[in-house]
Amino acid sequence: MSKNDIAVQYRTAGGAIVTVYGRHFEYRAECGGCREWTLSGDLKRWAHRHATRCLALPR
Ligand SMILES: [Zn+2]
Repeated sequence: MSKNDIAVQYRTAGGAIVTVYGRHFEYRAECGGCREWTLSGDLKRWAHRHATRCLALPR
């Protein structure tokens, strides 16, 4: 079991999962397909927008 708390997940058209996770004040959004990630801005918004655009397949 990961010690990171998953806040939200979105599925891309290709089936990869974009996850927002973290602990305390360190949150991170990461795509399970293309491995793009970010620490800044509105992470849920980034994750959702990325999920609608990313065409990478899950790894
Ligand atoms: Zn991606």
